[in-house]
Amino acid sequence: MKYKMTRKQKKMLRRIIIAACLLVAFTIIKVVFSQIPWPVFLALFLIPYVIIGYDVIRTAVINIIHGQLLDEKFLMAIASIGAIATGEFPEAVAVILFFQVGELFESIAVGRTRKSVAALMDIRPDYANLIITDADGLEKEETVSPEEVNVGSIIVIKPGEKIPLDGIITEGTTTVNTSALTGESLPQDMAPGDKVISGTLNLTGVCRVRTSGIYSESTVARILELVENSSENKAQAENFITRFAHWYTPVVVIAALLLAVVPPLFLGIANGEVWSTWVGRALVFLVVSCPCALVVSVPLSFFSGIGGASREGILIKGANYLEALSKADTVVFDKTGTLTKGAFAVDDIHPNEISRAELLDIAALAESYSSHPIAVSVIQAHHDHLDKNRVGDVREIAGKGVCAMIDGDSYYVGNGSLMDEIGAAWHECHLTGTIIHVARISSGSCEYLGHIIVNDEIKAESEEAIEELHKVGIDKTVMLTGDKEDIAGNVAKKLKLTEYYAKLLPEDKVERVKELMAKGARTVFVGDGINDAPVLATADVGIAMGAMGSDAAIESADIVLMDDDPLKIAKAVRIARKTMTIVKENIVFSLAVKAVILILGALGIANMWLAVFGDVGVLVLAILNSLRCFRIISGKK
Ligand code: ADP
Ligand code: MG
Repeated sequence: MKYKMTRKQKKMLRRIIIAACLLVAFTIIKVVFSQIPWPVFLALFLIPYVIIGYDVIRTAVINIIHGQLLDEKFLMAIASIGAIATGEFPEAVAVILFFQVGELFESIAVGRTRKSVAALMDIRPDYANLIITDADGLEKEETVSPEEVNVGSIIVIKPGEKIPLDGIITEGTTTVNTSALTGESLPQDMAPGDKVISGTLNLTGVCRVRTSGIYSESTVARILELVENSSENKAQAENFITRFAHWYTPVVVIAALLLAVVPPLFLGIANGEVWSTWVGRALVFLVVSCPCALVVSVPLSFFSGIGGASREGILIKGANYLEALSKADTVVFDKTGTLTKGAFAVDDIHPNEISRAELLDIAALAESYSSHPIAVSVIQAHHDHLDKNRVGDVREIAGKGVCAMIDGDSYYVGNGSLMDEIGAAWHECHLTGTIIHVARISSGSCEYLGHIIVNDEIKAESEEAIEELHKVGIDKTVMLTGDKEDIAGNVAKKLKLTEYYAKLLPEDKVERVKELMAKGARTVFVGDGINDAPVLATADVGIAMGAMGSDAAIESADIVLMDDDPLKIAKAVRIARKTMTIVKENIVFSLAVKAVILILGALGIANMWLAVFGDVGVLVLAILNSLRCFRIISGKK
């Protein structure tokens, strides 16, 4: 990706080049014509000094007035003025020159990373084409801002336009590119009835969409908010750096003062040469007294790691989650919708003294307000029109089923444990699958009406996803489900999970995760966001998958996978680990180089040239290293 410098950065580059040329030229003159008296050189070197340093000196003065004595610009100003005082004119220019090189580099690196994250921001739609019907019944199209579109409005989306709001296609077919959100480059075909997601790109056809929500609740608005707020959740490593910086600078500055004053007291307080030697060494300390390399590179690493992940459709809500993910050793999964497709198909209907159609009719009506994958499948199997007016008083019993009033009677639809609860005379089914039992309670008596057998399929990627997780060093993969023992056991065996627990209510899932954590496991919980918000919040890291359009998931999770591909979990772990490695490299490397310069400086081996070169060198290298977080191509998908 090409990065264009801003005007300010270009101006700084020109100042650096001019000052550097003058510095080299005057240094040569100084070496060749060393007999020229020093005031001439002072005058000469002041030219590049002012060109490169006027703003540093100005800020330093302002900061002294405000009492900020440990500000990096102030320290650089002192170091350079000290160098002038001890007659080291070229060094004085070099200190400021290299400092500015570092600053410029930093601003370019940060700008570049911002821009890449902003490329994601490119999903922000600018307008919507709203259809307005006037008094004569004539339709006309008006371009409005997405915020102005009400729920249920009709908008037109043309080829090449961003989809501004979530909705359902009412007319027209097209293909949609979701890569900005999911990292998936394959376009998807869309036809009337299909759901479109805001922030994706309409490629080929013109279509009309009925909006299903307002802009501030749309997928795109939620994602943007998430990305914009992610820098507020700081990692421990970042907090460490902040605390470190708080102490490092004062300590080094005090050491510099001591170095300048104490040795001359013993070695000859009246000897000018002793003074200039030790003041010179103290200046070396001042030059490396700024922890810039750390302060800049560590947050930048996290920022670019998060940016890199978002390009893959992995949204991470903060550096702290990236850090926690890198340490995880146990991944806990919800079954339905996470490891399995969550798209159940109705296999069979076994009614008890009523007709098959009647049983399906009741089940579909009772489920008609639920968004649970089982509910969706039952409703889909019911081809006729559902008269929702017959249904009232609907209650979802999480992990068990639903109950509803239909035509004045109370109906329960759900698993065996729900049937036990109401005392229905139910029985097991000989077929394999998830069994949805139906019972009616009218005038105090409970009547078992039969059951519907639905089956779910394991996602094609699930097996490889588990394998990949074990490969990246996750010890334990655990599945938690509210489903029956035999189905759970089957899925666990097929996917080679290390553990599974069946027949759990949502609160039991929370308990299981807490138990694991009490035993010292660092847990990641992966769910689809339907009724597992409490578990998502309990685990060290909650990952919601299939977030395209699901509000609950985006809100309750720490990490959101935009598509429902479980392979992305291992990828996220890889990105997190790599980012942490880079962060640690930067911390160790920067501290080591500073320590070496400080020791050599105190011994008089390192001069100011080495100090300033080393210090800026570390900054540049650390920044370059951070930028690698953005390009973690883990080889495998
Ligand atoms: P999972 O743990 O696999 O995600 P849930 O906790 O959502 O599953 O549900 C557990 C069990 O409760 C399901 O296997 C099903 O038997 C029953 N159940 C939950 N919701 C419904 C519903 N809306 N209709 C019928 N049965 C349901
Ligand atoms: Mg579930």
